[in-house]
Amino acid sequence: MKTMFQLWLPYFPMSPFNGANARDLQRAKKEWNNEQRIYLSPDYENVSRLKFRNEKGFLVMRGMTIPSETTNIIEVINVDNEGNHFPPSSPGIPEEWKGKVPENLVLKWLNSKPPELFTMKEVTLLFPEINSSLTENSKIELIEKKFVPGTFIVPTFGIDEELHSALFKWPPENSSLPITVSPGSEIKEYGKSGDRIENNVPLLLAWDEQQFNEMFILSTTLDHFYYLSIMKEILKKKNKKEIFSWRDKFVSKIKCTLELAWLYPKYAKDMFSDHYSNDTVFDIETKFGIHVDKIEDIFNHDEYDKKFRVQTEIPCIFSWIGYCWWELGELIKEKTIKTCERCGNIIVGKEDKRFCSKDENPACFNARRAEDRKRERNN
Ligand SMILES: [Zn+2]
Repeated sequence: MKTMFQLWLPYFPMSPFNGANARDLQRAKKEWNNEQRIYLSPDYENVSRLKFRNEKGFLVMRGMTIPSETTNIIEVINVDNEGNHFPPSSPGIPEEWKGKVPENLVLKWLNSKPPELFTMKEVTLLFPEINSSLTENSKIELIEKKFVPGTFIVPTFGIDEELHSALFKWPPENSSLPITVSPGSEIKEYGKSGDRIENNVPLLLAWDEQQFNEMFILSTTLDHFYYLSIMKEILKKKNKKEIFSWRDKFVSKIKCTLELAWLYPKYAKDMFSDHYSNDTVFDIETKFGIHVDKIEDIFNHDEYDKKFRVQTEIPCIFSWIGYCWWELGELIKEKTIKTCERCGNIIVGKEDKRFCSKDENPACFNARRAEDRKRERNN
């Protein structure tokens, strides 16, 4: 059985290696109490807890505001042991997944085509306005804030005409900067000093696969590119320790209710699937010893609070990048790292497996099939 976990997905680039970002994450984690959205802004004076309701007055989401050094929005997603998630739809969760986080996402990411660069002028996001008259039941007013997303300033930037590729170098030539751990946030710091802020280009990455663009919201920057290449390097060296050490920078523990970690994702799956299944009702009976006829009945059950409002401790994973390190760690935890004899990418599965499966790397799989067929014809 797979592990339940929680994901924190920021709209704008946020790195645990950046001082202000790390402190803001710490602030939010300390205050977090089963909310689905966290608003970070230096404009907030207090921690406020918000209940977002739909037109009919039903609670649809809990949120909180955190006085912070940086401005951002973080979506908090709970994923159960089967990959079902809550909320059922959210920024950062691709629509094509249809409610379930796919397996071996890290392998798909490792095999993705190099991203292209683009710039975005401005985005508008809505932040709750907090004033002293706000009570539990008052309507939440949202105010517009404008941002320019992307990583600013790209030092040593060039174009390779032949390869139609952009070239980067970080740290810049002749600088005394140490080896990078997070180019995105280091470049931002570098850009702030002196006159280097001139000639800024806010750059974002556009992936060939739509799911990656949706996963990273507005935060796909140079860091993603950097982690992708570093992950490939480490896999070539088959260095497990290094993988775990990267993972540990993005993964911590968090306490949340069993309702949020286990029940809501399954409830969301049942509510949004085309055909009704009894799986969750069955699971509730076997796991918790409560019999209900339909899943809605569980919320009014006498034992609900005792069984589902208890706290459980699960991994709290920061960003999809962190998830990729975490998933990679899970894939290799009890095994030696195995790579495809044809293309060198990591493969999982049975001991005697030698090549990528169709799911792991379609390009490698298809090419091998074509080679096999050619060989057969020639025999
Ligand atoms: Zn392969």
